[in-house]
Amino acid sequence: MRVEAILLGTAQDAGVPQAGCDCAHCRAAWADPALRCWAACLALVDHAAGQSWLIDATPDFREQVHALHELAPACPLSGIALTHAHVGHYAGLIHLGREAWNAQGLPLYASARMAAFLADNAPWSQLIALSNVDLRQLLPDREVQLSPNLGLTPLPVPHRAEFADTLAFVVRGPARRLFYCPDIDTWQQWDRDLREFVAGVDIALLDGTFWRADELPGRDRGEIPHPLGTDTAERLAGVDCDVRLIHLNHSNPLLAPGPARDGLAARGLGLGARGDRWRLD
Ligand SMILES: [Zn+2]
Ligand SMILES: [Zn+2]
Ligand SMILES: [Zn+2]
Repeated sequence: MRVEAILLGTAQDAGVPQAGCDCAHCRAAWADPALRCWAACLALVDHAAGQSWLIDATPDFREQVHALHELAPACPLSGIALTHAHVGHYAGLIHLGREAWNAQGLPLYASARMAAFLADNAPWSQLIALSNVDLRQLLPDREVQLSPNLGLTPLPVPHRAEFADTLAFVVRGPARRLFYCPDIDTWQQWDRDLREFVAGVDIALLDGTFWRADELPGRDRGEIPHPLGTDTAERLAGVDCDVRLIHLNHSNPLLAPGPARDGLAARGLGLGARGDRWRLD
């Protein structure tokens, strides 16, 4: 194998268990470390080139970088690509600064708005001022060649944009393509047809934050829109692609065995698990 993608986290931004939560899923995960989930993160590894990359720098960055090192010791981290400015996707950058790793010129790929957000706001601006990271601007739909064997194409997606816009990514290996989309408000608002798009790639890791509408009592779902897993499963039933839901909220019934998982499997879709690996060559 020369090129692969490795899933290093499957949870929504806050992880599982979540701070301050006493729900059944969080209680179970506090009691059993095997049930804990790191925030959504994908590693790309080019074994032939001896390099690796992360999509997103999560609050679980320390553990994820270590896991990547264990899985691909000969492929040091060669860059990070960011999806957007919600905490689960970039807050791990704090580990690159002088209080920590003190990285030197690590390539950091981001949209124009995301790059401006980092450059204009402390503490992120210090990472740029001290050249811990080397900001590289991504252009919509324009592929970046990460290595001779790996291309990364950013696709803008609709997602609440308090600080910056949001990207999904298509990862192109020598033989297979993977679509990574941890956050989107709705599939309807996207400028592409979900089923058609997913049928055109080999692997799709999709926003599965919530399964049902009634999952978060006391919270206005209008403030935190995501597609419902039930709807995504209907749209993609039987599609010719390895589809896995990721970015699961602590409230999501898919976190435990039961009817939700059975319903997903019955439609031919799966659930992302930490450590899942896909060969791209
Ligand atoms: Zn998120
Ligand atoms: Zn909880
Ligand atoms: Zn988000």
